[in-house]
Amino acid sequence: MSDLQLQDPLVFDAIQKEVERQNDGLELIASENFVSRPVLEAMGSPLTNKYAEGLPGKRYYGGCQYVDIAEDLARSRARELFSCDWVNVQPHSGASANAAVYLSFLQPGDTFLGLDLAHGGHLTHGSPVNFSGILYHAEYYGVEEQGPNAGRIDMDKVRDKARSVQPKMISIGASAYPRDFDYEAFRSIADEVGAFLWMDMAHTAGLIAAGLMNDPLPFAHVTSTTTHKTLRGPRGGMLLIGKDYENPFGKVAPKSGRVKNMSELLDSAVFPGMQGGPLMHVIAAKAVAFGEALKPDFKDYSAAVIANATIMAEAFVEMGYDVVSGGTDNHLMLIDLRNKGVTGKEAEEALERADITVNKNMVPFDDQSPFVTSGIRIGTPAMTTRGLGKDEFRYIARLVDRVITNRTDEDVLRDVRNEVHELCGRYPLYDFVVA
Ligand SMILES: *Cc1c(COP(=O)(O)O)cnc(C)c1O
Repeated sequence: MSDLQLQDPLVFDAIQKEVERQNDGLELIASENFVSRPVLEAMGSPLTNKYAEGLPGKRYYGGCQYVDIAEDLARSRARELFSCDWVNVQPHSGASANAAVYLSFLQPGDTFLGLDLAHGGHLTHGSPVNFSGILYHAEYYGVEEQGPNAGRIDMDKVRDKARSVQPKMISIGASAYPRDFDYEAFRSIADEVGAFLWMDMAHTAGLIAAGLMNDPLPFAHVTSTTTHKTLRGPRGGMLLIGKDYENPFGKVAPKSGRVKNMSELLDSAVFPGMQGGPLMHVIAAKAVAFGEALKPDFKDYSAAVIANATIMAEAFVEMGYDVVSGGTDNHLMLIDLRNKGVTGKEAEEALERADITVNKNMVPFDDQSPFVTSGIRIGTPAMTTRGLGKDEFRYIARLVDRVITNRTDEDVLRDVRNEVHELCGRYPLYDFVVA
């Protein structure tokens, strides 16, 4: 019996049940993945006990010599992974990393331009219920409704919008956009209107690190990310700068006569701007995950993630589903269920009963509320980590279709659930009692 099981069986049981749920079900949430045991071990280590405000070598607490080693490893591996000048691995999450970007480069009330939440954007890109929309003035660009570019961003429209709203910052990045971005075009628009360019690669960081999607770092002034999605690390955030230099829109400091570098602004926005002590156990786990991502087999994994998504999107199209933009360039697809007469909420709930986990998602030009939605978002990173390949993903697409088509038929849901358990049993995940 583990110490946790002995001392606190209630928490132990909850953890145990969640591990079983992860083992037995088909995890198709596009933002989720499964970390390795070494990453789990680092996260579960006594590094959680350590206060280490500041940066390696410049801490406000004593006794940081060993956590400094861990953070320096995380930083140097991240710089190697993304071929960049500077990183900060301390943000607790993607949202915290993004908050540091706003704090560094905008004043409250300033206008910025981001991708509409309903078109695949993220809450932290100006949603009225998020700090980004509460403190700053958000304007949006979106995807095309019709024509050859349906479901895709038209860069001419982004340029027109930027000219008319004159944003101080333009954000790129999405949670539900299945296509790649034209970073060069975004940068030329930003330069034209005198805006700061920020890329949030939370979803695609792993695919970018593997060199399989366009690289934003040469074009964006700053890039933010999570570390737990395609990058397959612990839950957390990170900030990166391709080439560090003086904040191009910065004012000269009155005393020193100096303009701060972008990296200095971001470092002080993370701490003391927004956070207190960094999570050193998570930073150690980031170092482990970045080490894994530097190995050649991470590239194979990432290529399989994209190949599996491509195959699955094709299978849905063949079965008459309306896949937004007709397919995918990355790890996810967005399915508009309106032609199937089912809402995202209904589909999500029926799939859940067959132990298939997806999330309901707004589709572009949705007429349902965000709580109901007309679509579902499906991603391949997690099940690709478990070793599933193209044949299995084609098969999963058929299982999803069977559930959606027979969503009120308990016998079908039970049969599919049995098939899901059989499939998952062939690809063991965590074959241990975690706690
Ligand atoms: C997931 C995501 C985030 C937020 O990350 P958290 O770690 O959940 O705070 C931010 N931006 C984008 C584009 C995301 O997809």
